Amino acid sequence: MPPEDFDELTSDAGEVALVQTTEVIADPLGHLSAEQVESIYQRYLEGEKVRDLFTEFSIKTNVNSLLPLLPHLERKDLTCPHCASHATQKRAARSNTANKPVCTGCDHIFPICRDDTCGCSACVNEYLGQLNGNGIHCRVPYEGLTLREKIILLAALTMAGPTDVACLSFVQLQRWHRRLAPTSEYQNKCISELFSRHIILVSSETSIDALDFYRQYERYDFL
Ligand SMILES: [Zn+2]
Ligand SMILES: [Zn+2]
Repeated sequence: MPPEDFDELTSDAGEVALVQTTEVIADPLGHLSAEQVESIYQRYLEGEKVRDLFTEFSIKTNVNSLLPLLPHLERKDLTCPHCASHATQKRAARSNTANKPVCTGCDHIFPICRDDTCGCSACVNEYLGQLNGNGIHCRVPYEGLTLREKIILLAALTMAGPTDVACLSFVQLQRWHRRLAPTSEYQNKCISELFSRHIILVSSETSIDALDFYRQYERYDFL
């Protein structure tokens, strides 16, 4: 049980209107209408004590917390950009910030704050598509490379293991090595040049943390 669900576990928790039984009560809110359930949640948010609400609405339960009993909020106002399903949202405890709505059809998590990102496979693929542009479908031919780009690539290839030369990734270039550039800043500049021309691409194996780091700082260190 997450910590926010222990909202009524105070020193006088023994006074909570608990049912003194180990029997599992299947649906403690089953006798209430959806409107009553919403009203209980609103009154809980406004600060009313859970035990008083349990007593008033004859809620018999062997847990002393309201949140686990409540159905998730149906967020029909939110449509998933990937599968068009709607979202549900776990209710937040009164002292906590809102939980992120989640899609009912796939793994997508809806952002709450402007900087929130989702790590579902569809969002990651979408972001990789933005980063790589049309580079995945339209590779730069050897004849299209400038001499400088050929030299940088050749230097980069010397950093890859002998079996990896068919696929050069950012991971192989993330640590500065003087075989590629005299300083780490210059190495970043070289990588940036290749990346901006889609000569090297971000791999789908790149971790979500690395993508978030790049999204925030535009640094190639961990891509
Ligand atoms: Zn979805
Ligand atoms: Zn997503």
